[in-house]
Amino acid sequence: MPLTDPELIKIVEKRLLNKKVCRNCGALNPPSATRCRRCRSSNLRPKKKALPVKKG
Ligand SMILES: [Zn+2]
Repeated sequence: MPLTDPELIKIVEKRLLNKKVCRNCGALNPPSATRCRRCRSSNLRPKKKALPVKKG
């Protein structure tokens, strides 16, 4: 089901994209995390990537 409602997209972006991804093991962590919850690595990157928008 494609997302078309802008409000819904905002909520989904917050839920899905406002996370940190461990570069070491790829686990998702809460945005406030400073260390990976799985491997304790501090090698985290923010997962901030816009959702693909369908054009046309
Ligand atoms: Zn990790």
